[in-house]
Amino acid sequence: MSALENLKQMSSEDAMKKIAALNLPDYGVSGNSLMERVALAQTQCEEDGYEPGVAAALNNADVDGVLLEVLRQDPEKVFEGISALAYAFGTEKKLLFLPEDETELAASEEIRGLAEKYQTEVTADFLNVRACKGCAVMHIVTAANLTDALNGEYTPAVYVSVNGGELKKAAYGTRISELADLNGATAIQAGYRYLRPEDADLPVEEAGISNGVLRVLTAKECIVAETEKRLTASRKQSCGKCVFCREGLLQLQYMQKEITEGRGKAEFADLTKEIGEAMAYSTNCTMGEVSSEIALSAVNLFPDVYEAHIKKKKCDICFSAETVYIDPKLCNGCGECMDVCPLDCIEGRPKYIHMIDDMTCDKCGKCIEVCEEQAIVKTSGKVPKLPNRLTKVGRFKKH
Ligand code: SF4
Ligand code: SF4
Ligand code: SF4
Repeated sequence: MSALENLKQMSSEDAMKKIAALNLPDYGVSGNSLMERVALAQTQCEEDGYEPGVAAALNNADVDGVLLEVLRQDPEKVFEGISALAYAFGTEKKLLFLPEDETELAASEEIRGLAEKYQTEVTADFLNVRACKGCAVMHIVTAANLTDALNGEYTPAVYVSVNGGELKKAAYGTRISELADLNGATAIQAGYRYLRPEDADLPVEEAGISNGVLRVLTAKECIVAETEKRLTASRKQSCGKCVFCREGLLQLQYMQKEITEGRGKAEFADLTKEIGEAMAYSTNCTMGEVSSEIALSAVNLFPDVYEAHIKKKKCDICFSAETVYIDPKLCNGCGECMDVCPLDCIEGRPKYIHMIDDMTCDKCGKCIEVCEEQAIVKTSGKVPKLPNRLTKVGRFKKH
């Protein structure tokens, strides 16, 4: 007899007591137990008259979707878990949300067959928290864990995909250093935030790998650029209904982009903290709650990386090691280069030796193309002594 059939031998009240005794945590970012999720739904039904139901989904903030593998490997386990909780909750309303881009999976024969068997509505859509009031919302992994627990087969573990590899179950107590090669690591992406390589001895249950993602960054990746990519993915997935999530993600992503392109401002690090912290408290779902953590942890744990980008324009990934300069012996002060510079970073006057502001220049080379005197040089080698103020053509002396 299946776990669900066994449960159905009892009354709903006894079934709920049995589930409560399992003491299961809800997987993902909620930090609640499964019974706390149920209690919240009960309150919404009793006090505000919402229809009771049970829903399972990935966290809205999950842009990687690696935990969907748990459903792919054994979808019936997930359907059974939803149905077990629904029986105990005394409801026939059963919902399964898949990520928006998983329409093919939602329409697959296997999923449609199980939806029919377990009388569960399956949608490839964002979980709308307001529309699901009255529902005990649990993570898809929690639904699978519930079935395991009812069968006496549950062991506390964290699902981890290291650097995009196969999703594996790591038992509590397993350390990050046992899962990933940390040679040359500059940072570790664990779930929605960064850790430092020094944190590699953390056990998986404390590392916050709530979306299954563990990624080791090395000198080949820039922490700011990777943060920007992650924020871009979150922006694409956000439904945009909460101002703080919509605008916060936009601002955070914009600032990281500016920093990687050499236009970062000193106040960006503080602004990132301010906006990131406000988002966590003023939004409706996990997207708003945790998507800023990647930027917050980046500025908090790696201030030196931000300082190098903003003040020194130094990053081997974002900025070329090359310099573009104007040879003071060859420049005739014609001004052609100033006219084409898209960043307005050439200073000069007619008949004066022109100068490039190296902090702003992005080495695009447009000025080099128009200089008929071949006075503009791009080099990764030594730069000769240059004028430090506007000097008339022919008047510059090296010493
Ligand atoms: S926090 Fe608000 S805007 Fe962001 S995804 Fe959730 S509901 Fe949509
Ligand atoms: S660097 Fe070349 S284009 Fe620019 S002012 Fe000098 S001579 Fe003209
Ligand atoms: S390389 Fe591009 S950005 Fe730099 S000074 Fe020349 S035109 Fe301007």
